[in-house]
Amino acid sequence: MLRSTRIVRELLVDNLSTAANAFVILVAAGVGRRLGSEERKAWVEIAGRPLWLHALSRLLLVPEVEGAVIVAHRDDVVRTRERLLAESLPQILVVEGGQERADSVALGVAAVPPGSRWVLVHDAARPFPNPERVSALVRVLGTVPAAILAHRSVNTLKQVSPHGRVVCTVDRETIWQASTPQAAEKFTLLAALARAAAQDLRFTDEAALLEWHSVPVQIVEDDPQNVKITTPADLARHQPRSPASAALRLGHGYDIHRLVEGRPLVLGGVQVDSPVGLLGHSDGDALLHAIIEGILGAAGSTDIGEHFSDRDPRWSGADSRHLLAVVLDEIQASGLRPLQVDCTIVAERPRLAGSKSAIKASLMTLLGLPADRVAVKARTNEGLDALGRGEALAVHAVVLLTSERTPE
Ligand code: MG
Repeated sequence: MLRSTRIVRELLVDNLSTAANAFVILVAAGVGRRLGSEERKAWVEIAGRPLWLHALSRLLLVPEVEGAVIVAHRDDVVRTRERLLAESLPQILVVEGGQERADSVALGVAAVPPGSRWVLVHDAARPFPNPERVSALVRVLGTVPAAILAHRSVNTLKQVSPHGRVVCTVDRETIWQASTPQAAEKFTLLAALARAAAQDLRFTDEAALLEWHSVPVQIVEDDPQNVKITTPADLARHQPRSPASAALRLGHGYDIHRLVEGRPLVLGGVQVDSPVGLLGHSDGDALLHAIIEGILGAAGSTDIGEHFSDRDPRWSGADSRHLLAVVLDEIQASGLRPLQVDCTIVAERPRLAGSKSAIKASLMTLLGLPADRVAVKARTNEGLDALGRGEALAVHAVVLLTSERTPE
């Protein structure tokens, strides 16, 4: 995908040859471990990709970006190069970072090809820069010597005394929060870095350095998605919630019992008023048997016959609600619980329309599920086959399990 986007980008660059182009310096040398990971921050992953690679992939979609250099921690230089090769990005430069952020930026700028006039310094801890916003940032260069992306302040801001007393409310219209990329003319940035180093001064970002160097810095409004990943909570918020990560398990169950006179008809733990009932080793509750088999299927287990053998005297005449409780305990031990159940009862006799709501209420109690997660439908077999002749009753059940711990 990246290769095709590069081709598109090259075509766009040809069409925009009058616009400024810029070289990306991706600062990924920090040692920060505040994310609660053993990894250095740039190598912490979202959806299986390190933060720096997310940022790089997005920055390479910007038509005006002509290349990139990654400033890596000393111990990450080799694996950064290996990953770039694996991603078919061999043209991206990698240099070793320095002690301080300013040292790393200077080393990155030094690696930028001589023909490139503008540089975009981006923090690898911001994995989601918006290519359209970065493009807007590059397009203001030429009219200004430096520019940064920044967010409007959305909160009401208070200036506070050292004792915690509010001094005044700051007009938020004048307050912006700096993000990255921060763009500047390459030689202007190098001169500012050298001058600050000579005076042993340190700045928190390139814009602060340039302000000190008397360079006007233009604001370009950023996209709210361009967040900095700082805490484990930030990281968790941006991990994808795909079905795979939610760990859903699907199971299907089926059961059929003969309808005979002289037996009670028990469905979903409810005794239904009927002249015929279900023949079976246990209470013959075909609905609970189908649900149990669906649960066992979703858990990757075996069928109900193997689980509760009809040769085992423990289950003779058993209340199927007890069998369900045993199975629910078993899956709970594996970290699973029911999320949803959908059942269809097929029977020519008796008519079940009047019993469906009581059966559903019983299933909700037995499974611990709300009304919108349990469905009980009943239908005839249109007079066809043994079911249609009223000789048997069958049930189909689809069961969804989840390994998520907290109920929604
Ligand atoms: Mg059965």
